[in-house]
Amino acid sequence: MGPAEGGERGVRELQLLSVVTPMYFEEDTVAVFYERMLAALGDLPFELVVVNDGSTDRTPELLDGLAESDPRVKVIHLSRNFGHQAALSAGLDHAAGDCIVMIDADLQDPPELIPKMVDAWRHGTDVVYAVREEREGETRAKLMTAKWFYALFAKLASVDLTQNSGDFRLMDRRALDAMLSMPERNRFLRGMSVWVGFTQTAISYPRDPRHAGETKYTWKKMIKFSLDAITSFSHVPLQLATIVGFVCAAVAFCLIPLAILARIFEVFDAGVPTLLTVILLIGGIQLLCLGIVGEYIGRIYDEVKGRPLYVVGARRNVEVPERRGRKRAGDLVRR
Ligand code: UDP
Ligand code: MG
Repeated sequence: MGPAEGGERGVRELQLLSVVTPMYFEEDTVAVFYERMLAALGDLPFELVVVNDGSTDRTPELLDGLAESDPRVKVIHLSRNFGHQAALSAGLDHAAGDCIVMIDADLQDPPELIPKMVDAWRHGTDVVYAVREEREGETRAKLMTAKWFYALFAKLASVDLTQNSGDFRLMDRRALDAMLSMPERNRFLRGMSVWVGFTQTAISYPRDPRHAGETKYTWKKMIKFSLDAITSFSHVPLQLATIVGFVCAAVAFCLIPLAILARIFEVFDAGVPTLLTVILLIGGIQLLCLGIVGEYIGRIYDEVKGRPLYVVGARRNVEVPERRGRKRAGDLVRR
């Protein structure tokens, strides 16, 4: 990785830090969030990009008020509620900083951790993600489902997501640009930020309870979120049909000699074992065929997602290759 990006040996100099926050019905939190953010960031040069995800309480006015009095506060109002990940993406698109922090508005993630993350960035880490050590003030059901989710994701998915890492993370401009070059529609940002690579480290912290209000993640949103996560990083569900098909077909094959024996010794009513075998065999064959179709759909899905093939971190003695017509995969990192 490029060691010196300005400044003395290997230490990157911060021009602008963008803090990106989605807000949905957070009227009770806005003021406290802003105060704590100001205190935590101290004299770091920063901008606060807040995305109002279609709240209809007082959140929009409060945000506009802040923007009026502090030009560092940038506000984006979405036309309706698009959901956490979409709102976050909108904020990231508008962030101008050379290092970007995503943080929830509810103060479950302490803004005081940000200077530490920036320090890690200064010393060359491109993605610093915060890992929640303990999670206070969350229901047993939430903790349990979160645990299942991370376990399932680890089994199925192609990226290595640290347990309990939320969306609270810092990204270097290059890593962010690479992530934003992934045009997929069902977005699972914390998986995508790992997918882009670069140097990644974790910082752990105890997670506080929500400052005010209730979780904005309903069960419905949580289910959609986990489905998005798993389907965008795994083909295993598509391959399930193949596995089940194999099992059925294998059982059917084992049953064939048994059916013959049963016929000879007349242990069952005539025809029953044969019928069973045939049903299993045909079922198995059908599932196998479905699995094959699934494999193709998986490939089509990969093509449609249109992710870059690779992401270049840095170049030595070689130029960015000339673009021939179409935008080239892997060339998405600005230098
Ligand atoms: N949020 C959003 N749109 C939504 C739901 C949530 O912008 O549809 C925001 C919310 O205001 C908060 C963050 O996303 O800043 C995380 O939401 P929440 O704290 O409710 O989720 P949890 O921490 O319970 O998973
Ligand atoms: Mg929260």
